[in-house]
Amino acid sequence: MKAVRFHRQGGPEVLVYEDAPNPQLGDGEALVWVKACGVNRVDIWARNGKYKTQLPHILGTDVAGEVIQVSQGVNNVTPGSQVVAYPVLRDRTCRYCKTGRPNRCEKIGLLGVAADGGYAQYVKLHAEDLLPIRGLDFKTAAALPVNFGTAWNGLVTRAKVKAGDSVLVWAAGSGLGFAAIQVAKLFGAKVIATAGSDAKLELAMSHGADYAINHSKEDVPEKVRALTGGYGADIVFDHVGAETWQRSIMALAKGGVLVSLGVTTGEESGVNIGRVYRSELTIAGTYAFTTDDLTKVLKLASQRQLAPHIYKELPLNSAGEAHRILEAREQFGKILLIP
Ligand SMILES: [Zn+2]
Repeated sequence: MKAVRFHRQGGPEVLVYEDAPNPQLGDGEALVWVKACGVNRVDIWARNGKYKTQLPHILGTDVAGEVIQVSQGVNNVTPGSQVVAYPVLRDRTCRYCKTGRPNRCEKIGLLGVAADGGYAQYVKLHAEDLLPIRGLDFKTAAALPVNFGTAWNGLVTRAKVKAGDSVLVWAAGSGLGFAAIQVAKLFGAKVIATAGSDAKLELAMSHGADYAINHSKEDVPEKVRALTGGYGADIVFDHVGAETWQRSIMALAKGGVLVSLGVTTGEESGVNIGRVYRSELTIAGTYAFTTDDLTKVLKLASQRQLAPHIYKELPLNSAGEAHRILEAREQFGKILLIP
């Protein structure tokens, strides 16, 4: 099959479009003909060595496609089934896996990092991790799991967003930020989005944000307070990390929830503990998402209540260009690779 692989970790130039062996199915597995694969920041971390992978390696966590082969005993999908992958790999035996929280598994890994992913014509997956896509095209389906699944887990499952809440979403131009705006709006929340450029702020507003703050020019906590009658945000959605964490804490209303789902800018942050306890703040760490989260997202997307914004579709052999765009933060929404 054709695939994009890398034989050593490094910049976008290590990605090579080449022939690779077809995946061989093991027990319980199915072979998926990849029709669209989303590009994510985790792809860059696996490519550049922040995350270790086997070599050579095939990236790609967000996979939608058609089942073309199943191993014996698999009966939830058949050749011809149109599916999207639940990309959380795990042991399936621990207490978390057995109680519906596979994203807390001690042996958690991601498709495309701990195993070869969807930057290829074919990918193999555990058949149980293939969810049917009904009423959705492959491109829309491939744009949903990482961004909308994670936003759903953070805002709905963890922070219990509800009508009337004020939600601050950092870096709304990213795929995850964009998804968070939509999920929060779906629940009737008031959304304050931040971005680093006026062009992205305008896009955030046109995609549902109620207010927009330029985080490179404005004092975000002060602005949030001004927009919420002096109280602050009920929920802050922070996937930026060290650079924004203290401001996130300062922007929260009493009783507010900090949804912390990424550390793009670093893992250490000096936090004012006094403010956390005096204001009864909750820190809701959010890591990936459950099959349940993804199933809900798929259903709402099929009803057109959630809709990813596809910024660009590129052929598989342009994976390096896709990474360049993502690293330069030029995109608004999702970049897809089409094998
Ligand atoms: Zn487990």
